[in-house]
Amino acid sequence: MLKSSRHIHINGIVQGVGFRPFIFNLAESYDLPGWVCNSASGVDIEISGDPDKLGRFCADIPIKAPPLAQIDSINVEEIAFTPFKGFEILSSQDKATDFIPVSPDVAICADCQAELFDPQDRRYRYPFINCTNCGPRFTIIKEIPYDRPKTTMAGFELCPDCREEYENPADRRFHAQPVACPVCGPQVWLEDNAGAKLNENEEAIQSARQMLAEGQILAIKGLGGFHLACDAHNPAAVARLRDRKHRPAKPFALMAFDLETIRKYVEVTDATAALLRSPQAPILLLPRRAGTHLAKNVAPGQTKLGFMLPYTPLHLLLLKPGPNYPDVLVMTSGNLSEAPVIRENREAQEKLAGIADAFLMHDRPIHMRVDDSVFMLINDAPYPSRRARSYAPNPIRLDFDLPQILATGPQMKNTFCLTRDKYAFLSHYIGEMENWETYQDFQEAIQHYENLFRIQPELLACDLHPDYLASQYARTKAASENLALYEIQHHHAHLAAGMIENGVAPETQVAGLIFDGTGYGLDGTIWGGEVLVGNCDTFERPFHLRAVPLPGGEAAIRKPARMALSTLWAYGFPWDDSLPSVQALNEIERQALLTQLEKNLNTPQTSSMGRLFDAVAALIGVRQTISYEAQAAIEFEGLVDKTESGYYPFIIKGQEIALQPMLAALLKDLRDGATQPAMAARFHNTIARLSLALAQQVQKDYSINQFVLSGGVWQNQALLEKTLALFQQNNLTALIHRQTPPNDGCVAFGQAMIAAYRYKTRKE
Ligand SMILES: [Zn+2]
Ligand SMILES: [Zn+2]
Repeated sequence: MLKSSRHIHINGIVQGVGFRPFIFNLAESYDLPGWVCNSASGVDIEISGDPDKLGRFCADIPIKAPPLAQIDSINVEEIAFTPFKGFEILSSQDKATDFIPVSPDVAICADCQAELFDPQDRRYRYPFINCTNCGPRFTIIKEIPYDRPKTTMAGFELCPDCREEYENPADRRFHAQPVACPVCGPQVWLEDNAGAKLNENEEAIQSARQMLAEGQILAIKGLGGFHLACDAHNPAAVARLRDRKHRPAKPFALMAFDLETIRKYVEVTDATAALLRSPQAPILLLPRRAGTHLAKNVAPGQTKLGFMLPYTPLHLLLLKPGPNYPDVLVMTSGNLSEAPVIRENREAQEKLAGIADAFLMHDRPIHMRVDDSVFMLINDAPYPSRRARSYAPNPIRLDFDLPQILATGPQMKNTFCLTRDKYAFLSHYIGEMENWETYQDFQEAIQHYENLFRIQPELLACDLHPDYLASQYARTKAASENLALYEIQHHHAHLAAGMIENGVAPETQVAGLIFDGTGYGLDGTIWGGEVLVGNCDTFERPFHLRAVPLPGGEAAIRKPARMALSTLWAYGFPWDDSLPSVQALNEIERQALLTQLEKNLNTPQTSSMGRLFDAVAALIGVRQTISYEAQAAIEFEGLVDKTESGYYPFIIKGQEIALQPMLAALLKDLRDGATQPAMAARFHNTIARLSLALAQQVQKDYSINQFVLSGGVWQNQALLEKTLALFQQNNLTALIHRQTPPNDGCVAFGQAMIAAYRYKTRKE
């Protein structure tokens, strides 16, 4: 019979996901000889046999591929006939310039979970059980190709039993790089906050559980870093954690053993259940159920709770239900204020000894620190708020080729973005670039991504802001390496991110309602309530909120009362003694504020929508000072009466959105004794209607029908859902974020898209 041979190259996430054993078994099923191996750019296969069988083999690859694999392309090439003997899995090849995407970490699979609780299994209650379908990936990978010696598992030599599984193509642990067992793998132990070991293995887990049940605070080393944990039903324990962490009010993330437990506390739909149980297992912000109780101080002033399921075997062992054992644990990032989450044992002891009563440690090193991801559901689909564990470093796939770019991102909620070929590698959440540790972490992560994905930036992009650390980093690098640098306006980056991730071509003109907190404007003022029209090259700013003073800059952000009075002052309304924001400041503070406003001292102008939400929240008495970002706006949203459909008037005058009539109506509501939920609803309805009015005006003036909704304010679910409903009724297309967050977590991606397009069009 006629025989031929083929070389097949597969691109995508095909390493660390059981791809080679899948190919092995597929070849065996067709009785085709040849080989498969990982290369630095994917998987290569050579195979011989009759052409019909080879055709069916190739056709099966995308259809039958393992669940975690993501195939981007399959190249099949006819080669000279080679008579192979049997089918073999060859060891990895490495070419320095090729690359492949790296799999993110994957939550424990159902098979491993079953084994974990099976007393007959040799890995019964072993906290590091994993297989080709689950377990750590990105957090343990030091280098590619993805092979055990290039991970933090390199120091653990496989025992004969594990080796047999690792080498047996029929086994579900075949070439699972982090494979381990109680005999050969990592171990857990418990130590006190002076560093003395208390006990280890099963005993350590039992003691840790006992301490949690008794109301103590534990630092627990997880997948991408440490958590701080305590009983979510114990207000004293939660209060102690808040006190020691200097975090008075910001809501804590929660973890429960299973979906049934989560359902007791929050509303869970089919879509939320699917996302909670997905291999990504993010934290989901879900509406609280009435009548069930956790400690109130877990999430003060919140109508939503952030829940996740245990995503590692260790978490499952810690959460397993038991008599008199808490069914929900607080699981908050193990860090100090806004510093990066801690990943090393010694560092944890140094920094967290004043917070944790004990440490549940293990000896599998974490190479890359990664926080938990946070999502909401909007129209039953995931809507990211923080994109980190189990999402990064999955690239965003594009329809066009990109040069190699580094975009360094914004100051707050920093992520950076590296690009090559058709991929944009948006980094995991780095955090607030205001301290040295975060800046160090940012630089290390850039180096790691550049190395993993073989990227040497040919050009750079950064925020226009003169002082952002990330921008300074880019300017220094551009100067020292003589690279082109694109400095990009913050809200233009939001617009670009929103359009490109929705599949809009970079040259297409779209509009954006960019409602944000802070961004450096082209005129040197602080923007944030902007209507932009443009593409990945240029933009116009047809409308914006009328600028108001931001007295004292940061001081006005931390004290919404100041923002409220400043807004009243700017619009010519008196500071009536009956107003909650007036009462919140004493006579001396008010005098100083007035002088500051009148003399324009340290008072930048801002058109920020985020600040408008702060001001109005303060005006109606929701909150006058905040202890975490957006606290006033979040509590304000939580008050919205869903049955209220009234709204306040507004005027669009020239390019400015003026708020006199809205403020007048709001102040009248206050005098008439309207309830906070009614006023909150009317204000949210007003901004939704304003969005519609602005979009319709843009549609008329520019014949544009696509509207990007981007900026941190769009994390406000009440506002977003009201706006989406109005857009739908009026046949306007809203482009909302699905792959990147609407907040500043998308900015680096947008910067990269603008730089790529400007570079390409200038060059041609
Ligand atoms: Zn598994
Ligand atoms: Zn073993």
